[in-house]
Amino acid sequence: MKKLFLIIGAPGSGKTTDASIIAEKNDNIVHYSTGDMLREEVASGSALGKEIDAYISKGALVPLEIIVNTIVSAINNAPVDNVLIDGYPRSTEQMTAFDELVSKEDNIELTSVIEVRVSQEVARQRILGRRAEAAPGEERSDDSEEVFNDRMKIYTDPLAEIQDFYTKKNLLKVIDGARTLEEVVADMEAFVKSKI
Ligand code: AMP
Repeated sequence: MKKLFLIIGAPGSGKTTDASIIAEKNDNIVHYSTGDMLREEVASGSALGKEIDAYISKGALVPLEIIVNTIVSAINNAPVDNVLIDGYPRSTEQMTAFDELVSKEDNIELTSVIEVRVSQEVARQRILGRRAEAAPGEERSDDSEEVFNDRMKIYTDPLAEIQDFYTKKNLLKVIDGARTLEEVVADMEAFVKSKI
């Protein structure tokens, strides 16, 4: 049985960094970031990657079928039973689609949905700081201020409905992401370990 933790958070919340540190420290936990998996497909130069790039570079969500296939294959191919996936769901459509899928799957349990919460101001400062610090050629195409605003809106619009849905299922865990990296990681790691 795979135990799945979905991690959501605004761009700049630190969700990918937090989850990857936890997975590095624990042999029985693996982590996948939807954004990283999609960017890998883009980097491969495949036809699918080209299609994905058209969405990512604008800060738009990739179509449902592509993202669902991406995460389902990541879960099924995960080498250990405890799986952290950050960046999903990002819409009510994704939330509902995944809920139906998990209810039919005997070997996947949605253990928790962790929201890494930061204010819009903290998110903005971190993203624009990340852009300023990136080495030439390594900037993310979606880290501009304009695309940040679009990504923030896309994150915020369905958030209340997503929070409500998982709160009712008793699955939502909110973590304060505005603290230091060490504090956020310690909190998230302790929570994940308490559930596995
Ligand atoms: P991230 O690295 O999490 O900020 O994601 C970067 C970009 O990848 C997003 O702006 C979207 O274009 C795409 N993406 C990541 N996760 C998803 C998702 N769950 N659904 C659709 N598109 C996604």
